[in-house]
Amino acid sequence: MLSEPVTAIAGVGEKFAEDLSVLKIYTVGDLLNYFPYRYDVFEIKPLSELIHEDKVTIEGKVLHEPSLNFYGKKKSRLAFNVEVEGIAVKAVMFNRAFAKKQINTGDTMTLTGKWDAHRLQITVSNYKKGPAAEQAEIQPLYSLKGDVTNYKLKKAVKTGIRDYANTVDEILPEQYLESYKLPVRRDALVTMHFPNSRIDLKHARRRFIYEEFLLFQLKMQLLRKLKRESTHGNAQHYDAALLRDFIDSFPFTLTNAQQKSLNQILADMKSAYRMNRLLQGDVGSGKTAVAAICLYAALTSGKQGALMVPTEILAEQHFESLTELFGEKASIVLLTGSVKGKKRKELTAAIEEHEADIVIGTHALIQDDVNFADLGFVIVDEQHRFGVEQRRTLRDKGLNPDVLFMTATPIPRTLAITAFGDMDVSAIDEMPSGRKEIETYWAKENTLERVLQFIEKRVSAGEQAYVICPLIEESDKMDIQNAVDLYNQLEEFYGSNLTVGLMHGRLSSDEKEETMKQFAENEVQVLVSTTVVEVGVNVPNATIMVIYDAERFGLSQLHQLRGRVGRGEKQSYCILIADPKGETGKERMRIMTETNNGFELSEQDLKLRGPGDFFGKKQSGLPDFKVADMIHDYRALETARQDAQEIIEHNLLDENAAFYPLRIRLENEQMLRDKLD
Ligand code: ADP
Ligand code: MG
Repeated sequence: MLSEPVTAIAGVGEKFAEDLSVLKIYTVGDLLNYFPYRYDVFEIKPLSELIHEDKVTIEGKVLHEPSLNFYGKKKSRLAFNVEVEGIAVKAVMFNRAFAKKQINTGDTMTLTGKWDAHRLQITVSNYKKGPAAEQAEIQPLYSLKGDVTNYKLKKAVKTGIRDYANTVDEILPEQYLESYKLPVRRDALVTMHFPNSRIDLKHARRRFIYEEFLLFQLKMQLLRKLKRESTHGNAQHYDAALLRDFIDSFPFTLTNAQQKSLNQILADMKSAYRMNRLLQGDVGSGKTAVAAICLYAALTSGKQGALMVPTEILAEQHFESLTELFGEKASIVLLTGSVKGKKRKELTAAIEEHEADIVIGTHALIQDDVNFADLGFVIVDEQHRFGVEQRRTLRDKGLNPDVLFMTATPIPRTLAITAFGDMDVSAIDEMPSGRKEIETYWAKENTLERVLQFIEKRVSAGEQAYVICPLIEESDKMDIQNAVDLYNQLEEFYGSNLTVGLMHGRLSSDEKEETMKQFAENEVQVLVSTTVVEVGVNVPNATIMVIYDAERFGLSQLHQLRGRVGRGEKQSYCILIADPKGETGKERMRIMTETNNGFELSEQDLKLRGPGDFFGKKQSGLPDFKVADMIHDYRALETARQDAQEIIEHNLLDENAAFYPLRIRLENEQMLRDKLD
């Protein structure tokens, strides 16, 4: 049985078993499921194609008896020449004195080792008497620790397979094996260790990738189902007629994508389950409009709503636009860190007495002194900036409020369905019609003057521009210095032709507001700023976004910044000033000039940076797959997700015998986890 200890395998003793435990291999099954991380492919290539210092395999005829030299304490060097393609190639073997007897003049040998193209010499690590196999030989390489060597591990696996492979049972239902043409588990497992060909290996890997993803998706989705069924939210009975009137009062009609997302959210609100949903949408796709409708829905059902945003500027903007949108319909309050003392007491009292319907704010919203009378609906904007803890605190202030996370940094679909497997996801993947695509250019630093002249030209046509300085590690002195320097430079360049404004994190909120107001009213035409304008700011007359030292920003952030323009009728431009040194930097600039679609961009960003970076190193919480790779194998992931959905929807794990092994497997894993917890 596969659950027997590894020592059950012939040749595996107590000592080796102990060594293997370092690799978390305890049972025969563990060993057989310990797949190679890589393979060496021994394939004979013509001498002319061998690359210096590569590991290569050659086949040749031994020209003379090997010479053996001893040196140092127990070291030896065996050398001989073999004839390959009519040329004498020198073979060197270290510390294999015993091989001398096996190698004789005239023998054909297959030698693998490091190639020295200059000296036509191979340093042999592996040899075999006789000609190379017809097919390329593929050798497993395992990741190792402690005293375990690849040779010993391979040998144990070989014996293990010989004696136990026939006990490896299939866990996937036959219908999937058939429709995806996957090898059965037993065959695939043997192939993973000792593939006969690359093509076999590919299919074996395909099988395990699918298996891993399917198990993963089943677990996630079962968990989500469980969560849904066990958490009681509040069913919000909003007033559909009032909502309709509200939507009709907008100066535009909702896009299909907005309507669809709205319907999903409203359905969640109406249900007794607690909503836990992510709303993704590119900058300007109209998330805020959807959010406003949802807040109104909560309000008509007698609840309070809260909107939490990352910066004060954004909170203020939302406050203004929502106040305008709602008019007399709601009492909206703004609660930020700069609201203090008596004013703060008044506001918190209003929130506690339900005199305030909608509360907009920053982190200040989740301080201890803020207590809601009846919080039913919470929106967290730009959720990736909030820690899990903070989100929980806010959520806990109400009686299971529905929570909507909004982000303008679309998370790649592949990540969304894995990282947020226990969250529902809505996407506004369509822009309101009539928007002009922003034209994006990549300029080198030495063309700055031309860029400035371009700005001047657009400004004389009545338009405005942002000039953004990079953020050097979380806003500090350096940043501000950068912005100030650039501001001075621009002031000097433009003289009295136009007014330059300056914005950075160290200004008081009054000063920021004043500057933003001047910019919004076109008293300031060019706004030099650090990234404080990154999120949410809306000045439709601004048509130019210049980003200085653009290589310092990630793709998502560049895209965010670009989203500050292109909000009006006029053609907008984004100019990236950058002299990136590395390939990744150059690639980023190219991608920016080529796509305006946030979803596409985020996929590219993911490819460039990897999933860990996407969420910040440690806290990624992404699962570790053995064979599968979420990015590379995203199609399989999507397939597995759909299959898992179907399995759960139709209750197949319980009701269909073909799914029984899969269910047992899940239950075993669950048991294991419970034990570990
Ligand atoms: P986001 O929050 O996704 O960045 P907003 O909701 O702020 O987007 O919308 C950006 C701009 O587009 C706003 O000026 C808003 O009034 C407008 N807008 C939103 N939805 C639509 C729509 N369906 N048609 C036209 N304009 C829209
Ligand atoms: Mg917005």
